[in-house]
Amino acid sequence: MSQSVLILGGGIAGLTAALSLAAKGHSVTVIEQADALGGRLRHAPPPILLEAHTATWSLIKTLGQDSVTRPLRHTPLEFLQSTGARIQFLHLPLPSPLNTLLGTTLFQGLSMRDRWHLLSFLERTWEQDPPLPNDLDARVADEWLTSIGQSEQARHGVWNSLARLLLGAALPQISAGLFMRTLRRCFLTGARATKLIVPPHGLDTFLLAPLRAQLDRMGVRLKLNATAAQLRFSHNRVTEVELADRTRLTADWYLSALPPQRLTPLLPERVVTHYAYFQQLSRLSESPLVLVRLHLDHPAQQTQLILLEGKTFHWIIRHPDKELHQQASVVWAVAVGEPTLLPESKEELVRLALEDMAAAFPATSPPRVLDIDVIRLASAMLATKPGAQQCRPIPTSPFTNFLVAGAWTDTGWPANLESAILSGQRSADVILAHPA
Ligand SMILES: Cc1cc2nc3c(=O)[nH]c(=O)nc-3n(C[C@H](O)[C@H](O)[C@H](O)COP(=O)(O)OP(=O)(O)OC[C@H]3O[C@@H](n4cnc5c(N)ncnc54)[C@H](O)[C@@H]3O)c2cc1C
Repeated sequence: MSQSVLILGGGIAGLTAALSLAAKGHSVTVIEQADALGGRLRHAPPPILLEAHTATWSLIKTLGQDSVTRPLRHTPLEFLQSTGARIQFLHLPLPSPLNTLLGTTLFQGLSMRDRWHLLSFLERTWEQDPPLPNDLDARVADEWLTSIGQSEQARHGVWNSLARLLLGAALPQISAGLFMRTLRRCFLTGARATKLIVPPHGLDTFLLAPLRAQLDRMGVRLKLNATAAQLRFSHNRVTEVELADRTRLTADWYLSALPPQRLTPLLPERVVTHYAYFQQLSRLSESPLVLVRLHLDHPAQQTQLILLEGKTFHWIIRHPDKELHQQASVVWAVAVGEPTLLPESKEELVRLALEDMAAAFPATSPPRVLDIDVIRLASAMLATKPGAQQCRPIPTSPFTNFLVAGAWTDTGWPANLESAILSGQRSADVILAHPA
């Protein structure tokens, strides 16, 4: 029987849940404070998709966008080290984990000694002898990599760059457990798990626009410019949501797909203090991101992703301009987990981005900049520091008709696109598993 569901937050987590629920005939309303859907994705550069992101690929397929993204070429993973060395991680056409093991053996970014330590660790992990330590979630990734024999050069030149890309912060700021699990999922499982694709089409083209069109067709009510201000509870249930304009809305189910620091102010204080589930949200924090987008009059043949060591920005994506393929390109310079960059002026950030771009893509003459965009986000991604993992909530809250979704919840992934989509699906599954 159809049930009514009120979803707070029109980011990708909320929209994924809305799609699954509407597809099963439920009556869904999405409350979004902004004047457009998509949340953080609206600021995002082309996403870095791995084969291991199965929930993302499945959503893309459901939306009929498979034909747009599948034929895209694999994007090589390239490192530019502070010595100026440029090294590619080889994508070998072998089943995983062989491709990664052989790729690691041949990878010039690590010294022979580091490769040997890593391979012997991987072999032991495989055989569970000794099993991975239980306290990895409480340990710092940098310290743990040192303990398995990775040199300072390897940690700076390779692992730190991967940590920034996959978890959004440097090795000394992230938990060893989440880093290890993410590396394993991305590079050591699944037949083609290491394949990496950076679609040059904006997320809007192949994800948000088709998703919105599908939700419209299914009759999902999308309330934009509507801010949830308060949640009301009675006994073990949520009874209503009050919006900033005092409108009150009721439903059978309530699903929060808000960031943690936006959810807690909606809860009565007694709920936050009484339940550990909500109390621990205050221990979660978010890390910053600075993004410079440069539209250049230089052509680019293919999409490139370069991880930078010792530069201001941590990675650079360059792709051909969709319309002016032969004449223009777009470059995205991304810095994560660097609060000191937030107060920098636009001019300075652009200057630094051009400097890093020149190192990543040396050219005989500097390209002409056609257009610039600078985005500074103080709270961009969940900080995955040691201990954060146990504060990430599961979808079911102590209130029987209230669920919590969002990239930052406990999905086993860092707070990325895959995590957001997975959390939306899992929350919808809880509702779908309950008869009215
Ligand atoms: C610049 C940037 C680049 C990124 N790049 C990548 C990438 O390459 N690959 C990747 O995997 N991930 C990337 N991410 C992470 C990814 O975008 C996010 O993990 C994901 O979009 C989060 O989705 P969400 O639905 O959980 O949350 P959000 O997108 O934060 O959605 C929450 C929504 O709730 C709304 N809201 C807040 N308060 C209220 C309220 N009181 N009432 C109503 N609505 C409210 C917000 O407006 C927002 O729309 C990037 C993030 C950023 C910021």
